[in-house]
Amino acid sequence: GCLKIIDKMEEELKKHNLEKEVKVIKTGCFGLCEAGPIIIVYPEGAFYSHIEEKHVEQIVEEHLLKGRIVTSLIFKDAVEEGKVKAIDEVGFYKKQQRVALRNCGVINPEVIDEYIAFDGYKALAKVLTEMTPEEVIDVVKRSGLRGRGGGGFPTGLKWEFTAKATGDQKYVACNADEGDPGAFMDRSVLEGDPHAIVEAMAIAGYAVGADMGYVYIRAEYPIAVKRLQIAIEDAKKIGLLGKNIFGTDFNFNLEIRLGAGAFVCGEETALINSIEGKRGMPRPRPPFPAVKGIWNKPTLLNNVETYANIPQIILNGAEWFAGIGTEKSKGTKVFALGGKINNTGLLEIPMGTTLREVIYEVGGGIPNNKAFKAVQTGGPSGGCIPAEYLDTPIDYDNLIELGSMMGSGGMIVMDEDNCMVDIARFFLDFTVEESCGKCAPCRIGTKRMLELLDKITEGKGEAADLDKLENLSHTIKSASLCGLGQTAPNPVISTLHYFRDEYEAHVNDKK
Ligand code: SF4
Repeated sequence: GCLKIIDKMEEELKKHNLEKEVKVIKTGCFGLCEAGPIIIVYPEGAFYSHIEEKHVEQIVEEHLLKGRIVTSLIFKDAVEEGKVKAIDEVGFYKKQQRVALRNCGVINPEVIDEYIAFDGYKALAKVLTEMTPEEVIDVVKRSGLRGRGGGGFPTGLKWEFTAKATGDQKYVACNADEGDPGAFMDRSVLEGDPHAIVEAMAIAGYAVGADMGYVYIRAEYPIAVKRLQIAIEDAKKIGLLGKNIFGTDFNFNLEIRLGAGAFVCGEETALINSIEGKRGMPRPRPPFPAVKGIWNKPTLLNNVETYANIPQIILNGAEWFAGIGTEKSKGTKVFALGGKINNTGLLEIPMGTTLREVIYEVGGGIPNNKAFKAVQTGGPSGGCIPAEYLDTPIDYDNLIELGSMMGSGGMIVMDEDNCMVDIARFFLDFTVEESCGKCAPCRIGTKRMLELLDKITEGKGEAADLDKLENLSHTIKSASLCGLGQTAPNPVISTLHYFRDEYEAHVNDKK
């Protein structure tokens, strides 16, 4: 309903001759989906939540004309004993550190001047005029940034491999094919701050020696596609893309490629096939894309969130970024928090924040005072982590140790009413649907697993089915060609490990 609210706001401002004094800025998402639509009035930073058209008149007449904040419309957590707190004092934002999301919900993503006003393209200017490609790669390496798309591979090393690969032509590519159910991190960055990706990809192009970049984005994200297109065109108009950028001999161009929604196209080699116009199916690795990527040329491929960190790393330095997070997982991570949680939304926390802090402080706890049962991280290929590990600091290695993974950042919370066998079945159903069929363990094995889960959840399972599920899981993990199959059994393995009693209850009670 936000578009109607914007219209109403503009109408009210006009009515009171305020349209020159008060600027309405249409931003991307500010993260707290649960409280939307929101209006933030500056300079006070008053955070109005759950706004409907009927509230706009009140905000204009009381706040803008009389200077009185309408406390009854302020987000409930931002009011204490009648006093309004600053946004960063609100539970949802207090523990957050916005690096990748820094401009989301702050600037108008369709106006390049606003990005520039927030230090936009300053990092590109710096690398082109003050740094060699080797120095740029060194900064990224020392920052400790690891790939935010799921794998967690050190970004600087990837840049170095691509820079050192031999080829008359090189490419940089951005994986914006976010497909995990419940995940919308990349979408939010592209909708809220598209220039950050344009700038970061130009920096990457300079560092690895590429003059052409592709953003592979799913067509189901029309607003993100539109804003990115506007960003590319506006950057071209003022010479930030194209030939001789900042008067140097560096040339760089960017194009968008639309994906048709196949989950497997988020896998890097399938994505490359799709960019080339072929069916999106994974290729065996090696060779890795850094050596043979798009049209067999060396290709640097990072995801949206990874790129979104780059301009800040260049401007603030490797040490600044490496000072955030844990020993092996530096910086921040964006998560899409959903499921049985009060503050559904998009959050960015320093690595090392515990699951408990995310769920109870940022997330505001479980609705209706229900008991927490588990949190699923890593999308459909992640695992379910039970309550006993709530105090685990979130980083790549800890999540893998618990049988889950960081993935791209989906985080779904389950309460005491959720059946964990149903949850595992739900995610497996998704991966069966999305398997590309190229290799037998994934194409056939995941189907057999789903049949077993159907049998168990229908009350027709036997004790031996649990062993079969386990055996199949391990075979599929070790024998599948790509990451989709290699991780598809994770929800089943982790729920069998932590919640075996629920499987046994289905089998023994036949329900
Ligand atoms: Fe396709 Fe699955 Fe094999 Fe990956 S693991 S190549 S998705 S069949």
